[in-house]
Amino acid sequence: MGNTTPLMNQYQSIKNKYPDCLLFFRLGDFYELFGEDAIKASKELEIVLTSRGVSKDKKVPMCGVPYHAVDGYLKRLLEKGYKIAICEQLEEAKPGKGIVKRDVVRVITPGTVLEPAYLEQGENNYIISLYRKKESIGCAWSDISTGKFQMTQFSETAAAEYLRDLLSRLQPAECIIRSDQAAFFEPLMEDYWESKGLNITRLNKEINGQVAWELVTRQFGQENLIGIDRDAFETGLVSAANLLSYIMETQKTSTLPFKDLSVYTPKSCMYIDAMTRRNMELFRTLRDGKREGSLFWALDRTLTGMGTRLLRYWLESPLLDIEEIEARQEAVEELAGSFFLRNELQECLKKIYDLERIISRVDWQLAGPRDLLGLAKSLQVIPDLKEILGQAKSKMLREAGVELDPVADIKEMLFSALIDDPPANLKNGGIIRTGYHPEVDKLRNMIAEGEDWIRKLEARERVRTGIKSLKIDYNKVFGYYIEVTKPNLHLVPGDYIRKQTLTQAERFITTELKEQEALFLGATERLQDLEYQIFLDIRRQVGEASEKIRRNAGIIARIDCLVSFAETAARYHYTKPKINNSGVIRIKNGRHPVLEQLLPEGSFVPNDLEIGEDADRILILTGPNMAGKSTYMRQMALIVLMAQCGSLVPADEAEIGIVDRVFVRAGAFDDLGKGQSTFMMEMNEVSYIVHHATERSFIVLDEIGRGTGTFDGIGIAWAIIEYIHDKIGARTIFATHYHQLTQLADILHGVANCSVAVQEEGQNIVFLHKVVPGGTDKSYGIQVARLAHLPEELVQRAQEVAASMEGGSGNKSGKRTEDVRSAPVQLVLFDERSAILKELQNLNLVQMTPLEALNTLSNWQQRL
Ligand code: ADP
Repeated sequence: MGNTTPLMNQYQSIKNKYPDCLLFFRLGDFYELFGEDAIKASKELEIVLTSRGVSKDKKVPMCGVPYHAVDGYLKRLLEKGYKIAICEQLEEAKPGKGIVKRDVVRVITPGTVLEPAYLEQGENNYIISLYRKKESIGCAWSDISTGKFQMTQFSETAAAEYLRDLLSRLQPAECIIRSDQAAFFEPLMEDYWESKGLNITRLNKEINGQVAWELVTRQFGQENLIGIDRDAFETGLVSAANLLSYIMETQKTSTLPFKDLSVYTPKSCMYIDAMTRRNMELFRTLRDGKREGSLFWALDRTLTGMGTRLLRYWLESPLLDIEEIEARQEAVEELAGSFFLRNELQECLKKIYDLERIISRVDWQLAGPRDLLGLAKSLQVIPDLKEILGQAKSKMLREAGVELDPVADIKEMLFSALIDDPPANLKNGGIIRTGYHPEVDKLRNMIAEGEDWIRKLEARERVRTGIKSLKIDYNKVFGYYIEVTKPNLHLVPGDYIRKQTLTQAERFITTELKEQEALFLGATERLQDLEYQIFLDIRRQVGEASEKIRRNAGIIARIDCLVSFAETAARYHYTKPKINNSGVIRIKNGRHPVLEQLLPEGSFVPNDLEIGEDADRILILTGPNMAGKSTYMRQMALIVLMAQCGSLVPADEAEIGIVDRVFVRAGAFDDLGKGQSTFMMEMNEVSYIVHHATERSFIVLDEIGRGTGTFDGIGIAWAIIEYIHDKIGARTIFATHYHQLTQLADILHGVANCSVAVQEEGQNIVFLHKVVPGGTDKSYGIQVARLAHLPEELVQRAQEVAASMEGGSGNKSGKRTEDVRSAPVQLVLFDERSAILKELQNLNLVQMTPLEALNTLSNWQQRL
C-alpha cells in the first residue's frame, strides 16, 4: 500500500465506511467511481469504463459523470435500488496544499430521497422498517419527502397478512430490517411485492427498548406518545427508532423534522389485498402494467401533488362507515352539480404548489427561494378558497373553508422579502427584494456606484490614453483589469501595471483600480453573505409555521380529491349511490368506469346487477369467451369500491349495502412468467378468499378451476360455490364456461344463473354484451376461433372433432380412425386393454352430472 497515491488512499478510507453504497467521489467537475462501483455503474448507466493508476504499477477501473448532470444518473441508479454516497470536496483546491479534504455529505437511498428531481409528483415515497421480538412484529414507515411518520405493531401469526396489506398499500421504495431478522422477513415479503423488486437494507446496529423509547420521545415529544404503553408497544417503538436512526445516518443530521407520530390501525377502512388490487387494475393494468387503463387513471383529475397522493390513498382505503362516506358524497354531489363552484375551486387549485413537499424541504433546511415563493403564491390563494368554500352548502366543504389558515404574516413576509424570479442557487445573492432590508439596499447601492465608477474610469482612461478600444473587464483570477490591444500598446501610460499577456492584447491594473475593487468586491461578497443569512432567517420563520402549512396542505388535498371526483362524475354522468346496511348490491345500468372512457362514446353497453338479501346471493355467469363476463364482474366490483370511497358511480341508480371486503380473483396469465404453477397459484388465491371472506364481503371469481382437468375443474368450482353458499354467505359472482355449474341454481336456493347474450348469425356470432337472466349451455368456442381469423380449414376440422366427441365415441365407426388420428394423446394415455377405457368409451357425458363424473373418476382411481 505504501506506493498508493494519496488520493486513492483518501478514496479507500472513505469507501471503507460505505461498503454498501456506490461512492460518488468528487474530483473537480466530475463525480468518479472506482473499482467494483465503477464496474456496476458503467453497466447500469451505459457509460465508458476506464481506469486510473492506484500506484506505480496498479490500476483500478474507473468511470465518471459530470457533476452538473448528476441528477439524471442518480435517478436511474435509485430506480434500480442502489444506495449512493455523495462525497464532496470540503475546501477549495489550492496549489501546493496537497489533496483537498473530502467527505460524504449525504447518502441517498431509494427510500430517503428528498430532491424533487428523483421523486414522482403524485406518489408517496415510503421507507418501511420492520422489527421482530418474541411473538410481536413492529413496523414503522415514513415518507420523508412529506413528513409522514407512522407505526404499528401486530402479532407474528398475523404477520403475513399485515405485511401483505402494508406493502401493497405503501409500495415502499426501501425496507430496512436488522440483518439477523432478514431470514424471517424476506420470505414473507417476496410474494407480495408488486413488480418493483425488493430494496432491502440490512442494519447491523441493535437498538434496545430503552434506547428506542428515548429516541422516539426525543423526536416526537412526550405529549405525542400519550397512550402508547412503552412495554406493550416495544417492537413498534424499536422499528420506529431504527427508522429514525437510519434516516439520521443517511441525511447526516441528528435533528429530524418529523413532528407527528401516528399509530396506524388498519380496521378503519376496507383492506384490499394485493391480488384484488391487481385484478381490479386499481393503479396499473394487468396485462402490461401501464397506468393508462387503470381505475386511478380514469378517475384522477386532481390538480395538486398532495391531492394526487391523497386520491391514491382514498382509492386503496375505501371507507366502511356510512356517515363518513355520505359526508364525502354530499360534497362531491354538490360540486358535480355546480359548474360554477367546481370551476372556481379548480382555478384556485391550479395555482397551488406541492405544499406538503415544500414544507418538508423547509423542515429539512433544503428549501430554496423558489420553493418559498411557490409557498407564498399558494398561500395567496387561500383567502379566495375560503370565500368560495364559504358559499358551499355541504358540511365538508364549509368546514374546509373555515379550517384553512391563510398564514398571512408568512405570505406577506415572503412576498416582501423575495424577488419575483429568484435564482435556484442560494449563495450568489439576488434573492432579497430591494426595500426589505436596509443593509442589503446600502450594499447594492455601493455596488452600483462601484460599477458606475468603473464605467466612468473606463471613459476617462480612453480619453487620457487616446486608446478608443480600451476596456475594463473582470475575471475571477485577476479581478478588474484594463485591456489594451496589441497595436495600442505604445500608448499605455507609465502607471499601468502589466498583469497578463494574451496573443491579441495585454491586461493591466492600476493602484486606483485595485483600491476601488477591494471596496467593490468586498461589498459584493458581503451582500451575498447577508442575503444568504436573511434567507436562512426567513426559512426558519417559515419553519415555525410548518404545522399550519401542513394542515392547509391536508385540507387542500381533500378539496382537490372531492373536486376531482366531482369533475369525473360530471363528465361521465355518474349518480350518487345509496349506501346502507342492507346487504344488497343493486345497480341499474352500470358501466365500467375505465372501459367507458376508452371506448367510443355511447358504445359501452350498460348492465344491471341485483344480488344479496331477497335476491340471490350467488350469480353464476356463463357466456362465451369475449362476451364480456370479466368486464361485467370487474365493473361491479369497481362500482362498489368507488361508492365506498365517496365517489359517485357510473350507473343510473345504485344501492350498496356496505361491503367489508372485495375479493377479485381473475385469470392468472400474468403469473405464468414467474414459473409458478398457475393452478397452484389459483388455488392459493381461492383459499385466501374462502378463509377471509365474510357474509358482508363481495367476491368475484373468474373461471376458477380452469387450470386443471375438466372434471377436477368442475368439481372444484362446484364445491367452492357450495362452500360460499353454505358457510360464508358472501355476495358472489362466479363466471365460468362449465355450463354444468348452472345446475347449481336448481339445487341451492341462493344461487341464480345469468349469462351474457350473444346473437347467432349463420355461422357467426355477435356479442351483445348484455347480461340476461338464465344460463347458457353453448360455449361458441368455434365461432370465437373463426372471429379470431384462424384458417377456415382449421375451424372446420375443429367443428368435426367437437361434433364427434359430443356425440360420444365408439359408435360412429366410420369416422373413428380419423378421429383417433387427430387425437393421439388419448391413445397414449389409456391402455386399450383396460376395462376402464371401455367404461370410459361408453360413458354418456352429456347426461352425467359433475358429481357423478367425480364419483366415477374416484372409482377408477381406486381400481388403478
Ligand atoms: P370475457 O370475460 O367474457 O371473455 P371480456 O369481459 O374480456 O370477455 O370482454 C371482451 C371485450 O368485449 C372487452 O375487451 C370489451 O372491449 C368488450 N366488452 C365487454 N363488455 C362490454 C360492454 N358492456 N360494452 C361494450 N363492450 C364490452
